[in-house]
Amino acid sequence: MLDLVAPIHILGGGLAGSEAAWQIATAGFDCVLFEMRPRQPTPAHKTDQLAELVCSNSLKSEAENSAPWLLKEELRKLDSLLLRVAREARVPGGQALTVDREVFAREVSRAIEDHPRIELRREEVRSIAEDAITIVATGPLTSGALAEDIGRITGAERLFFYDSISPIVEAESIDPGVAFRASRYGKSMDGTDDYLNCPLDRDQYERFVDAILAAEAVPAHIPEDTARFFEACLPIEELARRGRETLRFGPMKPMGLEDPRTGRRPYAVVQLRQENLRADSFNLVGFQNHMRFPEQARVFRMIPGLERAEFLRYGQIHRNTFINAPTLLTNTLQLRTNPRILFAGQISGVEGYVESIATGLIAGRHAAELASDAETRAFPRATAIGSLCAFVSGADARNYQPANITFDLLPALDEPARLRFRRDKKARHAEICRRALESLDEYRAIYA
Ligand SMILES: Cc1cc2nc3c(=O)[nH]c(=O)nc-3n(C[C@H](O)[C@H](O)[C@H](O)COP(=O)(O)OP(=O)(O)OC[C@H]3O[C@@H](n4cnc5c(N)ncnc54)[C@H](O)[C@@H]3O)c2cc1C
Repeated sequence: MLDLVAPIHILGGGLAGSEAAWQIATAGFDCVLFEMRPRQPTPAHKTDQLAELVCSNSLKSEAENSAPWLLKEELRKLDSLLLRVAREARVPGGQALTVDREVFAREVSRAIEDHPRIELRREEVRSIAEDAITIVATGPLTSGALAEDIGRITGAERLFFYDSISPIVEAESIDPGVAFRASRYGKSMDGTDDYLNCPLDRDQYERFVDAILAAEAVPAHIPEDTARFFEACLPIEELARRGRETLRFGPMKPMGLEDPRTGRRPYAVVQLRQENLRADSFNLVGFQNHMRFPEQARVFRMIPGLERAEFLRYGQIHRNTFINAPTLLTNTLQLRTNPRILFAGQISGVEGYVESIATGLIAGRHAAELASDAETRAFPRATAIGSLCAFVSGADARNYQPANITFDLLPALDEPARLRFRRDKKARHAEICRRALESLDEYRAIYA
C-alpha cells in the first residue's frame, strides 16, 4: 500500500535534508534526496559527504536546562539521526557537544546511503517539481538556478541573500534608570512609546566610535562575506570608518528624542526595539556588525544603560539564502500557497546547525504525514521545536532575521510561575525546560 505513494523529494543533503530524509524513511515512505556536490561545489563545503559541518565542529551547549540543550534533548526524544551520530562522534569540548566532523559526516552519509527507502541522487536541482511533496533544504548557499525558481514561487522580494543581524539583549539587563522609552517626535506605531533609547553625550560618543574603530573583526567565512555590503545594511564599523559623525547621522541619530532626565536632546542615541514574538528582549536597531563576539560585548557595554547587558545574540552579516518565512510558511513549515512544499534548514529562516537539524526533522515528519494523507500536526508551542516554528511563521515580517534557539523564543511563564521564579533565572529556565519536555511527551503519546 505505502509503496504506491510517490516518493517525497528532498532538495539538499546537508544537515536539514539528511535529517528529513531519515525521518521520512523511518516513517515508512520512499524519498529521493538530491545533493549537488561533488558535481557542483558551494563556496564553503570541502567534501562530497552529506551533513558536512562547514565551519565550527560545535553543536553548542549540553549544559542542562540551557536553551541549546533543550532543543537537542527534544531532538533526541524524537529519534534524530544526526543527534545520535553526534553522540557517537563526540570529542572532548567542555560543556559543548563537539564532534569529529569527518566521523560525523561519514556516519550520517553511511546511514542515508544504506537505507533502502532513500535514493541519493547526486545532481543539482534547478527547479521545484510542484506536484511532488517536496522539502527545500538547500541551505544558505543554495545554487543560483534553484534560488531563481524559489524566487518565482515565493516572490523574489521575499528571498534574501544576505543576513544582516543586529545584537539582541535581555530586557532585564538594560538599566531602566538610564534608557528611556520614546519614539522619534513622539510618533508611535501603536500608541505606546516603541523604543528604548540609550543616550550618549559627546565624550561617550567619541570614546564609543574609537572603540568600534579599534575592535577586532571576525575572519570572513567566505570571501563574499566582507567583499560586498548593501548600502542599506552597512556594518557599524564601516559607517564609523566613513567619518566620525556618520553614526550620529545614521543609526545613532538623536533627532526627535528628548532625554526626560535632562529635558534635552542627547548628542547621540542607541535605539532598542522590543522583539516581536521574543519575550523580554530588545534588539539594537541598525547595529549589524562584523566584530568578534567578545569585542561586541565589550564595546556595546560602553553604551550608557547597557553596562550590564546580557547578549542573547550578537550582530553578524554573512551570505545566507533565506526566505521571508513569516509571510510564506505555516507553523508546520509548509508553504501557505502550496502546502505540499515545505522548507527546512537555514533557508527556512533559522540560524545554526542544530536549528537546521531541528527544522529538517520537523519538515520530514510533516512530509510523512502528508504522504499518509493525515493532517499535519504542529509541535506544541511550549517546546523549543514548536517555538522555532512559531518564530519562523509568526515573527515580524518587516524586519525578519533568522534566529538561533534562545529562551526568549519560548513562551514566557504564566504570572504565578513568573513571580515564583522572579529572582532565580536558573530555576526559571529549568521550569521552562520541564514544561517543554512534558509537553513534548504528551504530543508523542498522542501522535508519535
Ligand atoms: C560559511 C558558513 C559558516 C557557518 N558556520 C556555522 C557554524 O559554525 N555554526 C553554526 O551553528 N552554523 C553555521 N552556519 C550556519 C548553518 O548552521 C549551516 O550553514 C548549516 O549547514 C545549515 O544547514 P542546512 O541543512 O540548511 O544547509 P547545508 O548544510 O548547507 O546543506 C544544504 C545542501 O544543499 C546542497 N545544495 C544547494 N543547492 C542545491 C541544489 N540546487 N540542488 C541540490 N543540492 C543543493 C548543498 O550542496 C548542501 O549540501 C554557517 C553557514 C555558512 C554559510
